[in-house]
Formats: sequence, structure tokens, C-alpha cells
Amino acid sequence: MTKTLGIVTSGGDAPGMNAAIRAVTRVAYAKGFCVLGFERGWDGLLTNQFRKLTPRNVGGIIQQGGTILRTLRCPGFEDPGGVKRAAETLAANDVEALVVIGGDGSFRGALDLSSKSGVSTVGIPATIDNDVFGTDETIGFDTAVNTAVGTIDKIRDTAISHERVFIVEVMGRKRGFLALEVGICVGAEVILIPEKPWSLDQVIRIMEENNQKGKRAGIIVAAEGIGDINLLAKEMQGQTESEVRLSTLGYAQRGGSPTARSRFLASLFAEKAVEVICNDENNKAIGLQDGKIVSLPLIDAATKRKDIDLQLVNLAGILAT
Ligand code: ADP
Repeated sequence: MTKTLGIVTSGGDAPGMNAAIRAVTRVAYAKGFCVLGFERGWDGLLTNQFRKLTPRNVGGIIQQGGTILRTLRCPGFEDPGGVKRAAETLAANDVEALVVIGGDGSFRGALDLSSKSGVSTVGIPATIDNDVFGTDETIGFDTAVNTAVGTIDKIRDTAISHERVFIVEVMGRKRGFLALEVGICVGAEVILIPEKPWSLDQVIRIMEENNQKGKRAGIIVAAEGIGDINLLAKEMQGQTESEVRLSTLGYAQRGGSPTARSRFLASLFAEKAVEVICNDENNKAIGLQDGKIVSLPLIDAATKRKDIDLQLVNLAGILAT
């Protein structure tokens, strides 16, 4: 009998999710699987809504941002009744393995579901936040970095012309991976991330020193997770000579056509995910470690905290002198 593999995209969308759906479908078909794509994240498993995915109907999506399966933050799934219903949906459709494309929250859901359904789950890390343990990079991160860098380059033109300081808020939820990489790539004068303590006095001192050096324009890249960025802008405006403006990049960072890098990673992760399923390995996550595609226990990817390289903050400081 043909084995059935399910795919679900869950949590925040990330550019490259479609490339992953396409690649999982085509690799799985090549190995003889039938593939079902569940709609709207975990909700599709609660409501038994899915579509059959074939190599043909996943054509033309590799360059599209978002996810054709849609995604949802679905609190109802976390109830014991929700997970039980999802397990019943999988059993009713003879799904033997489920590929979950999302972040660590989605992976926790997958573990819960696996323990109640016996279905083997594999997690493919896809989030612009890059905050999943066990992988150097997640699908979508490179695209989000490039989108933010492109926008901040434009903001810098105005910063220089008007000799203003711009505080630019970038996404990342509670972590600073996106802000740190973006900050280095735009040559930010200051990078503020939740993982490194900072103070208003320290930021003001750096900007004042820059002012004395004749560097009157500046970019401060702030991760959304650092706290009240509106207040930071207000206090900086009140306590410095500079004209300070706040710009929130917002959801533009989550959308758009995936970069080549995000598509490539999605394709390689997908191949590994199907390989893991074919080897009957249960509850694994896929990752990139030191340039190699690997698998690791899903529980580690779902629960362990990924370290951030704080040396990069020091480097950014040197590069901004
Ligand atoms: P991401 O996958 O991007 O980290 P979320 O943290 O929002 O996104 O998680 C996505 C979904 O996964 C949640 O809406 C919820 O339905 C499910 N989920 C998260 N944590 C758990 C958990 N501990 N048990 C069951 N489901 C969970």
C-alpha cells in the first residue's frame, strides 16, 4: 500500500516555506509516497481540511513568499482535546508521517501530536527569527535580512541628508538574531538586542561621541524584543541634540520572494526530511550545522535555547567607529 505523508506549515510565515512544500512533495513522490497538505496550520488537522499535493500542483510556487497552505497561530491545538482530534484526523487519512514546517512553537505542537498519535513527525525549521536550536540558519532568515537591509539602506539616505538619527525596529520576537545580522550589514552605529544588556546612557554617549566626530547621522538597529522602543526614541530625542526618528519595518520583513539562499536551504532540508522518514527515524528536526545538513532530536530543537554570538556585537561596535 502507498504510504501517506502529511505536510503542515505552522506559526509565523517565512519566505521559502513554499519552496519547502514543493521540495518535500516532489522528493516524497519520487520515493512512492502520497502527499497531503493540511490547511491553515494545526487548524487543518482539527477540522480535517487538506489538499492532495502532487509534483504538478506544487509547480510555480518556488518564488512565492508566504505559504500556499496558509498558516495560523492556533491556540485550540494546545488543548488535550485539540491534539486528540488532530491525531484522529491523521489516523482517518492513514497519515504515517508528518512534516512540520515552522518554528520551535510548531515543533512543540508536533511532539505533542506525535506522543498522542504515534505518527512520526519531522520538523523543518522555517522562521525569519532564526531562533531554532540545532540549526545555524532557518528557512526565511536570509530573505528577511536582505529585505531589512534594503529598506534600511534607503532610510540611511534620509538620515545622512537630514543629519538625523533613525532608530529602526526589526522583528525577531524575543531574540536578536535578525537585528544583529541586519545591524552589521547596514553598518549600524548601535545594535540593541534582548540578549545583551544596554542602557539609554550608553546609547546616548555613543551617539554624542559620533556627533563630536562629525558623524551626525546614525542608524540604531533595535530588535523588537528589547522593550519599549517608542520610549527609547522619545528619551533620546529629549536628551540629545540629535533629531531622532523611529521607523518600524514591520511585516514587510516577513513577506516577499525568497532569496536563492532561502530556496536552496528549503530544498536541501526537504530532501533530508524525507530521507529521515524513509529511515523510520521518529521525531527529528532538520538543521544546518557547519555547512552540513543534519538531523537532531526534535525535542532539542523544540525546547533548547539557541546561543547568539555576542562577539558580533563587539565587532559591530568596532565597524561603526
Ligand atoms: P513558531 O512555530 O513560529 O514558533 P508559534 O510559537 O506561534 O510559532 O507556534 C505555532 C503553533 O504551535 C501555536 O499556535 C500552537 O498551536 C502550537 N504550539 C505551540 N506550543 C505548543 C505546545 N507546547 N503544545 C502544543 N502545541 C503547541
